Amino acid sequence: MGVHRHRGTPLGALTPICNACGVSLCWDIAVEEYEEAREFWDRWVCQDCREDAGQERMSLKGWKQERTAPAVTEPPPARTYALKGMRPKAIQQTDGKRR
Ligand SMILES: [Zn+2]
Repeated sequence: MGVHRHRGTPLGALTPICNACGVSLCWDIAVEEYEEAREFWDRWVCQDCREDAGQERMSLKGWKQERTAPAVTEPPPARTYALKGMRPKAIQQTDGKRR
């Protein structure tokens, strides 16, 4: 479903539609906003439906973060190991310069 335009939709804006109950929302998003996050709005579900399903409200911000962070597939133990190896080195360096 995604978005549509109805008589009350302002020029240059689109009205999101809930993918679960099909209701038109009472607020609008800019056309650019939709084009930027088309995948998000096309599967967007309203807060009421999310609450009925016991899920959190869908967040555009969270969706964008997910998309711009490909490191999510990285195994967490490797990351912790790299941080542990780097930290003492950095402390030693600053200590040496200041004294
Ligand atoms: Zn809904």
